[in-house]
Amino acid sequence: MRASVIRRVWTASAFALMLAASATAESPAPPPRPDDLPSPAVETPLPPQRPAELQPPSPEASPAPAFPPSRPQDLPPPKQDVTPPKQDMPPPKAETPPAETPALPIAVSPPLNERPEELATCDALLAGGTVAATRVAPIPDENGCGIAAPVSLEAVILPDKRRVDIEPHPVLRCDVAAEAARWIAQDVIPAMEDGKSRVASISGVGGYECRARNRAPGGHLSEHARGNAMDITAIVFADGHVVTLASRSNDLTAATSLRDSACARFATVLGPGADAAHESHIHVDLEPRRNGGKICQWDLR
Ligand SMILES: [Zn+2]
Repeated sequence: MRASVIRRVWTASAFALMLAASATAESPAPPPRPDDLPSPAVETPLPPQRPAELQPPSPEASPAPAFPPSRPQDLPPPKQDVTPPKQDMPPPKAETPPAETPALPIAVSPPLNERPEELATCDALLAGGTVAATRVAPIPDENGCGIAAPVSLEAVILPDKRRVDIEPHPVLRCDVAAEAARWIAQDVIPAMEDGKSRVASISGVGGYECRARNRAPGGHLSEHARGNAMDITAIVFADGHVVTLASRSNDLTAATSLRDSACARFATVLGPGADAAHESHIHVDLEPRRNGGKICQWDLR
């Protein structure tokens, strides 16, 4: 019995010792933990690899990742949208230029033709026997200038068939030439002739000219540029003496008659006192104005 007890005690103690030994054997377990610690140290280098990867891609990645996502999303729609317009655009562009190019001369040509109503006015003027005039070719519309049916006014034929020459021959619209002829024959000649001397010619006459008012660069287009205006400088008598219309020392009665009759017939009359450009001659025109407005600026003294 004692022996069995002793064995049991010994066995128990031995078992206890073994447990203790095993316990002490587990103490070295910490070493493996330090081994785990280095392992995280091994994982630590991984992070540096990650940043190493992030850095290189970052420069390329910023554009690269941006394009790939955008391209796949944008490409499908753009490819479909861009392709059709490219195919449609070229045809219309190619068709538009040729269509416009021939259209321009066609659109411009009509104004270059003589207008029926102005041709009728010219026919009546030339057949009336009150002027010596010749038809000239239409002056094409360019920069606002031009005359559809112009004439060159050579002389005014008075009721007694006398001829008053117009020098030089102005090119005018026919209605302007007709009104100028009536003014000269019905008002100017009667006012200037006193029975002692006869008028031979009207000198210093201007007509059509493609230019701005008073020749001011970039200024408003002159009525001369449409054949609507005529300038007169002087009246030349058969005996050789000359009366300058812009003179402020002319016979007041005759000068008043000339001015008033001109202002009654024409839409615009400009002479001395109007501006510096009209101190040397008288300008008359038929510029159309709303409500029939007129300008009459001709100082006699
Ligand atoms: Zn003028």
